[in-house]
Amino acid sequence: MAKLIDGRAIADNVYAELRRDIAMLKSDGITPGLAVVLVGDDPASRAYVRSKDKMCRDLELHSVKLELPATTTQEELLARVEELNRDPNVHGILVQSPPPKQIDEGAIVRALNPAKDVDGFHPSNVAKLVIGDDSGFVPCTPLGCQRLLIESGMEVSGAHVVVLGRSMIVGKPLALLLMRKATGANATVTVVHSRSRNLAEITRSADIVIAAIGQANFVKADHVRQGAVVIDVGINRVDDATAPRGYRLVGDVAFDEVAEKAAAITPVPGGVGPMTIAMLMSNTIKASRQQSH
Ligand code: NDP
Repeated sequence: MAKLIDGRAIADNVYAELRRDIAMLKSDGITPGLAVVLVGDDPASRAYVRSKDKMCRDLELHSVKLELPATTTQEELLARVEELNRDPNVHGILVQSPPPKQIDEGAIVRALNPAKDVDGFHPSNVAKLVIGDDSGFVPCTPLGCQRLLIESGMEVSGAHVVVLGRSMIVGKPLALLLMRKATGANATVTVVHSRSRNLAEITRSADIVIAAIGQANFVKADHVRQGAVVIDVGINRVDDATAPRGYRLVGDVAFDEVAEKAAAITPVPGGVGPMTIAMLMSNTIKASRQQSH
């Protein structure tokens, strides 16, 4: 049976470190600040924004929560982003995805000051990830996956990592991050997606499988070799009449059967999810440190 990689416990260690960094910044008169912008009333987005705001308050950061109506226009949103770009008390800005359909998300991301783009989606931060410039911001979920592997003592260097999914939020930046010539990286990375042929054959050759495809329980025992490490990024709702809300959350990995074969595995919830928020806080501290120099 696989060892459980406990994302909540690892995130708590990250917070302990961050609290020390925050205390040092405060002793220099700097309170790190994060602004989270939510447009519309998508319930999942609202829940994410609430938990990010709560974490800011727990860490005693300066937190700005902007909740804008679903009818907000592109120009109105751009004007708010510009205000936040200029606000010296805000070091990190995040515009919660997905916005309503009248909003051009790419244009909003490009309007962010890259120095405050703690989500790491601005083209200048993507470029820094590609060229290996550590001054940039790496998206939080890939950073969280890497940190989980490092903190749980998994050898990434030289390992064959197969990433399922090639989105700009998870799969692609994760592949770039793990193939970097750097500590906690140096992996041999293969990326598979919906057009990949012989997907199971490829994932079976992996030392580390990272699933980020948004398909409930897709990765089965047959996709994984004995002793592999499995990181499950997926968060999917499946109907469950016995659950209080009528659904429960499952990952992209069929947990029970894969756990029989894997050496280590992350649960959903309680794996990658808590690390994503921890890395957002970590990026915010990094941004405030950079901007105070
Ligand atoms: P996207 O829908 O943007 O991308 C999904 C990727 O998976 C695409 O590259 C797609 O391929 C690929 N894919 C879809 N179906 C298959 C399939 N059957 N076989 C192989 N590849 C497939 O999703 P995201 O990257 O945004 O999110 C992925 C999952 O991670 C979701 O469940 C999401 O909820 C979760 N997530 C969790 C976070 C966390 O904090 N834990 C944060 C962000 C996301 P193609 O490109 O060919 O279409």
